[in-house]
Amino acid sequence: MASSWSLSSRLRGLFQRKTIDETTWEELETALIGADFGPDISEEIIEDLRARVDRYGTTDPADLNRMLREVLEERLSKLDTTLKLSARPAVVLVVGVNGVGKTTTIGKFAKFLRTYDRTVLVGAADTFRAAAVEQVATWAQRAGVDVVRPSQPGQDPASVAYQTVEQAIRTGIEIVVIDTAGRLHTKAGLMDELGKIKRVVEKQTEIAEVLLVLDATTGQNGLAQAQAFIEGAGVTGLVITKLDGSAKAGFVLSVQEKTGIPIKLIGQGEGINDLTGFTPHVFVQNLVG
Ligand code: GDP
Repeated sequence: MASSWSLSSRLRGLFQRKTIDETTWEELETALIGADFGPDISEEIIEDLRARVDRYGTTDPADLNRMLREVLEERLSKLDTTLKLSARPAVVLVVGVNGVGKTTTIGKFAKFLRTYDRTVLVGAADTFRAAAVEQVATWAQRAGVDVVRPSQPGQDPASVAYQTVEQAIRTGIEIVVIDTAGRLHTKAGLMDELGKIKRVVEKQTEIAEVLLVLDATTGQNGLAQAQAFIEGAGVTGLVITKLDGSAKAGFVLSVQEKTGIPIKLIGQGEGINDLTGFTPHVFVQNLVG
């Protein structure tokens, strides 16, 4: 994983130099901006590091490496990034714009939960496109979990969600993962649809998480998308996809800080096992190397 993230390769040369000088700071800032931390956060990180370097009285780039990890980890640890899945059943709504990797994430998440021996049922509540139902069903099958499909095309998504939760309660399933539509061009309609799903499900059990899937490669567009869902859908956690081979790992910090919503999962590939929980320490280790 680490080798594919460009920040670590860019930084390697920098930390192998003899001393910390002005070029170090310039190169570090360029590396941070290039990795999509955004200019404001990159500048703040540099200022923080300069102060730490002064306080510590060091000119050793190895110290700077350690301090950079500290700064990133401190910032990423400000929010609680653990999934809250203790309700029975725990319902997880998965929301996001088409193309970000929502369907793939649902399959990977179901598999992730199965590896922890949790029982899972998927609800295919993106009923507008028949292909969406088939895609999510294929991923559920790969993960070895059942899926509740609409009984007719275009069925009310809230009624599919209701049936899924009802089946989970009846059969003692622990976690329900519900796919939702991602047509943002009908933003008001989509948010109404998500709101109705939530209201229906909340009559049956608690909504444990509303996870918004964002594509790391979209940068600032991703932030604008996030805002619409945060306002309209009560997002509790973010899933950042396509971090594999992405030069945009800094997006993780900027999106968490700018939205105030914790990252809960990260996707690093197209395969069913390419999803992990988000642990700031591990993430920073991989990012900085
Ligand atoms: P949806 O429209 O949001 O449901 O998106 P899909 O799940 O169909 O994914 C869209 C494309 O992104 C597919 O080609 C996926 O294989 C790809 N994809 C999803 N997650 C990842 C990821 O973490 N890494 C990479 N490289 N590709 C991903």
